[in-house]
Amino acid sequence: MQRHRFTTCLALILFIASFSATSFAQRSAPQSAGIPSPKSVLGFTPGDDRTIAGWSQITDYFERLDRASDRVLVQTLGQSTLKRPLIVAFISARENILALPKYKDIQQQLADPRKVTQDLQRDRLFANGKTVVAISCSIHSTEIVASQMSMQLAYELATAQDAETREILQNTILLLIPSPNPDGIDIVANWYRKTLGTPYEGREPPELYHHYAGHDDNRDWFMLNLKETQLITRLLWHEWFPQIVYDVHQQGSNGSRFFIPPFYDPPNPNISPVLLRQVGLIGHKVAADLQADGFKGVLTNALYDTWWHGGFRTAPYFHNSIGILSEAASARLMTPSTVTNEQLTRSSTRGMRSATEATTNFPDPWPAGQWRPRDIMDMEMISARSILEMASKFRGEYLRNFYELGRKNIEATDHTGEPQAYIIPAGQARDEAVAKLVGSLIDQGVEVFRLDRELHAVLATPVLRRTNPVAEKLGNYRRLASLTSSAMQEVPLGSYIVFLAQPQRTNILALFEPQIYPNRLTPLGEAERPYDVAGWTLPLQMGVEAPAVIAIRETPNERKLTLLKDPNEVRADLALALKKGDESPIKNPLKQPVRVGIYKGSIGNMDEGWTRFAFDTFNVPYTSIRDVDMKQGKLNSKFDAVIFASQAATQIINGNAAGTVPAEYTGGISEAGVKNLKEFVNNGGMLICFDNACDLAIKEFNLPLRNTLEGVRSSEFYCPGSIVALDVDNKNPVAATLPNSLPAYFINSSAFSAAADANVRVIARYAKENVLLSGWLLGEDKLRGQIALAEVGVGKGRIVLFGFRPQHRGQSWATLPFIWNALSSATSGSSE
Ligand SMILES: [Zn+2]
Repeated sequence: MQRHRFTTCLALILFIASFSATSFAQRSAPQSAGIPSPKSVLGFTPGDDRTIAGWSQITDYFERLDRASDRVLVQTLGQSTLKRPLIVAFISARENILALPKYKDIQQQLADPRKVTQDLQRDRLFANGKTVVAISCSIHSTEIVASQMSMQLAYELATAQDAETREILQNTILLLIPSPNPDGIDIVANWYRKTLGTPYEGREPPELYHHYAGHDDNRDWFMLNLKETQLITRLLWHEWFPQIVYDVHQQGSNGSRFFIPPFYDPPNPNISPVLLRQVGLIGHKVAADLQADGFKGVLTNALYDTWWHGGFRTAPYFHNSIGILSEAASARLMTPSTVTNEQLTRSSTRGMRSATEATTNFPDPWPAGQWRPRDIMDMEMISARSILEMASKFRGEYLRNFYELGRKNIEATDHTGEPQAYIIPAGQARDEAVAKLVGSLIDQGVEVFRLDRELHAVLATPVLRRTNPVAEKLGNYRRLASLTSSAMQEVPLGSYIVFLAQPQRTNILALFEPQIYPNRLTPLGEAERPYDVAGWTLPLQMGVEAPAVIAIRETPNERKLTLLKDPNEVRADLALALKKGDESPIKNPLKQPVRVGIYKGSIGNMDEGWTRFAFDTFNVPYTSIRDVDMKQGKLNSKFDAVIFASQAATQIINGNAAGTVPAEYTGGISEAGVKNLKEFVNNGGMLICFDNACDLAIKEFNLPLRNTLEGVRSSEFYCPGSIVALDVDNKNPVAATLPNSLPAYFINSSAFSAAADANVRVIARYAKENVLLSGWLLGEDKLRGQIALAEVGVGKGRIVLFGFRPQHRGQSWATLPFIWNALSSATSGSSE
């Protein structure tokens, strides 16, 4: 490929470009005797058309490389959800690999400046440390190319003899994760091989590519529900504290060829502007190198934003590190695809009007044509190389910046107006939720202390209030710290306290504060969709009280605090069963055994996966019901309750269309399944529907309810992934023991109205005022007082309809008890 290096007059970019951009392939030396190439092991070069390596091939290759190369050390982190080994390859110069414990120790000191007591010690860390870079491939398993690329990247780093690569290896330590979702690699590889040469070659598999989470495996990086997230979080944020984390993804086929930061708006206000600039600098370096190597269609400043928290590349911002995302256009798994000019013209997104129009952030559109896995891999290899070059050349600066961000977080003087801490008071009714919340914090490296003596503190609970009630449709909110008491109050011993003066200060703010998403509209007045959710405040989602601490009476010397090292310490405090091995220690909350069926169609549905996750976490037994079971009927003989996770009624009934997947995966429950479902409820069964699935029940059972948000334009109402307040009727058994006000997760969800004389028992309504607790809500009036949770008697049975998501991403623990309560009453028939 022709190289056009000096294409810009910007001095900085010239400087950067001057040490850039030759791809590894051009450098890779043949004098690598004894070190196996991927081709020699796999029989093909990674990225070749219509080839795919499954997980055992990938781990086998890395094991061979570990044995053959003194630049590579492979470590198994643990087992994935379905018991595959999760591995990381450390790649660096031989002498660095031999001294990994020393470098890990340096990183741990840099990550917590309280460990650095003298300037001399600090300067020695800067002088001796290496830039630690983590590269993670194919967390989304259908974005498969990076997992294949990882082997080639490792090989070329292990064998290159040129001065520039040797310099990279001297100055950096690479933590290469071939995939953080090994199970998904095999789901995709097995499916790809099965369909190769059939009409379905290159189609995505008709199932979730993570056992529970599917695509949401990259929404778990603060909640840490999944084993994979837990293992990698331990590697990154307890052990190695990488200065740079690069998460390699693929996007749709028809837009830009490659996205790289800077990101789009809005930025998360808790992310240091220094980090945002460093993210942008690395992104522009990658973009410049790709351009210099002749690659077209590189997009920056579009679509992907930094507002959202919880992704592989967003978690680093809250650990004072640089998170980089790349998104290459997808082929059809490992099969080339053809993209037409018309498809490109129609492709638009935030920050890009059309994939054919040259703009400053997209200066060189790609002409339509064939798009191969090799194109993806070449761009990813150059991108990885660029990032490693930056990490190497600016080694000292990255270490210093990382240390300084941690130092500023600890020095409370910089943060006037912020609370000193958050308290999780003892004596809350929900011990399991408290244990999970505190456990997740500990697992991601946040310091949490237990009060071994009571404190006296001024507490405040931040709330959102509309700034302009008249123009409420504009959704302008601000945060008010409403003082529950201006006086000192006693915080009982046994409470937990999370001080802000610690390296993860911004993470704590991002998890505990309510989010106020800026009111962003398109020129036509429609809501501009955020990249992911708008609000996620963790104590709210979990129904755990966690007020902010404004002042503490006791001096540090007068306090008696114990730093918690292990989530089991919290469980022991609360007299909960301890976690051992992989088993969830939570006691089944159902009052009696109930035969539960959870519908699992042939279309992978993340909400269904998270429902299973909640049931497994709480050790509530269930059976997955497939389309064929629904069509066979006799559901009462097998189940007392049937649950539909959020899914469109047409998807449930029709499933995959004929011709899109092999025949065995087509069709849904069909009209026969609907008929059997009616028979099930009429005979005394309980049907539970979440959010979109309520539509099926309302229409097919002719329920006297209407979704008032159906068809409403986003200029009138919009609420994408936010926390809203419910008014709860806790005299209803489904709400038994719950408080009369509760936060619930709303993600473009549903709200119902019922005819006045209808036989509908309302269990919860959206609050009559101050509905938004965290996130973004346009048109609050459309939600106020509407039905959020109701049950309707049908024949001898009952239908329970959740307008919201009671188990969203395994995070919204506040509303899980509704599910357990409903099921506990399932065998007793109608509650009338
Ligand atoms: Zn992805």
